[in-house]
Amino acid sequence: MNSPDSASIREADIVIIGGGIAGASAAYELAAVSSVILLERESHCGYHSTGRSAASFTENYGNAVVRRLAIAGRSFLEAPPQGFCDHPLMRPRGMLTIARQDQLGLLDEELERARQFVPSIHLISPGEALARVPVLRSDYVGGAIVEPDSRELDVNELHQGFLRNARKRGAQIVTNAGVKAIGRHGDRWVLQTSQGSFAAPTIVNAAGAWADRIANLAGVAPIGLVPKRRTAFHVAAPDGVAIAGWPLVNDVGAEFYFKADAGQIFVSPSDATPSEPMDAYPDDFDVAVGVDRLQRATTIEVRRIEHQWAGLRSFVSDASPVVGFDDRAQGFFWLAGQGGYGVKTSPALARACRDLIHSGRLPDELLRQGIEPGDLAPGRIRMTESAASA
Ligand SMILES: Cc1cc2nc3c(=O)[nH]c(=O)nc-3n(C[C@H](O)[C@H](O)[C@H](O)COP(=O)(O)OP(=O)(O)OC[C@H]3O[C@@H](n4cnc5c(N)ncnc54)[C@H](O)[C@@H]3O)c2cc1C
Repeated sequence: MNSPDSASIREADIVIIGGGIAGASAAYELAAVSSVILLERESHCGYHSTGRSAASFTENYGNAVVRRLAIAGRSFLEAPPQGFCDHPLMRPRGMLTIARQDQLGLLDEELERARQFVPSIHLISPGEALARVPVLRSDYVGGAIVEPDSRELDVNELHQGFLRNARKRGAQIVTNAGVKAIGRHGDRWVLQTSQGSFAAPTIVNAAGAWADRIANLAGVAPIGLVPKRRTAFHVAAPDGVAIAGWPLVNDVGAEFYFKADAGQIFVSPSDATPSEPMDAYPDDFDVAVGVDRLQRATTIEVRRIEHQWAGLRSFVSDASPVVGFDDRAQGFFWLAGQGGYGVKTSPALARACRDLIHSGRLPDELLRQGIEPGDLAPGRIRMTESAASA
């Protein structure tokens, strides 16, 4: 890449690529201590995965690192700093994990694993499960466990809170600014976008499903990110049934989940189809699978789909997020691979990003949860790859 005329380059300590929840939360934390420019390709931040999630906060989903990150971020979501947002970021919801008779072994394993991190999770009888969600079929539910302290997230309030407060701290958010070229010139990165050129000694790659594409533009080795499509849709609530207090209902075999959502029923078939990074859209087959699984488990009769969408959940090989400086490219910082957990883990990961950039160490609140620097570092992926190819 040719170095553009330096007079036309906008400079900062840190340029963040991507304005989803990862980039927005990083901008919020980093702008407290550095000058920050955030570049987003779309006309508004949050168009991709962040705007398409199930908005669930659970401490009992994902691998051990993800669970620890969720637990570490809970206090921010429950009690954000004064003036951060206008409405609460979390509401009571609860999560009910159900099992058919043939899945009871899985439910036992799930309960044992769950209680290592969340002791309040407990078994309830099928009758109690039906009392909480009366549309469940009595001949379907063989067993159930409850996570009483699971919550519903207000994703928009959280995302807008990060963006608004990042601006208050001096961050510049530039939309319609797709990064097209990245080059290292001396001690800084120079990025070319449709909104002009930007430069910083440090760039944060928070480009979601496109994070490996960004690495490629910068001449940095990829981390093997695999975006996976997940489908969701709304159907009408059953007539005459009060749905407002329902917990989120999750199948122990990860075959589907559903919840009450703005007067309708939100359903997902829990699909995870590998995809290119793209503006994801739902496949009719996945929607039909979701309808079938919902109708087998409940008495809800689906007459039509009110609204359907899909989003990408992007994973590396060990399904933990990748947060840290690339060990082979100076000033190239990864904030990627959040999978299906990027909203609930955003407060903890943004603080990790801030402290790793400024002090080279993880925040105490993450260390206290048992997270070690190697759990998040990009180098762990490369080490696994070289061990596999040896
Ligand atoms: C159906 C579904 C349900 C989910 N449910 C939950 C849940 O209940 N709880 C939870 O915590 N998580 C959930 N997730 C996961 C969560 O949504 C993601 O982990 C999170 O949104 C990822 O955020 P992100 O900022 O990394 O990615 P994104 O939101 O995709 O943001 C990345 C941004 O980078 C921008 N970008 C890409 N390339 C460039 C470029 N060249 N130049 C400039 N900008 C660029 C994109 O335009 C995009 O806006 C769910 C996801 C899906 C799809």
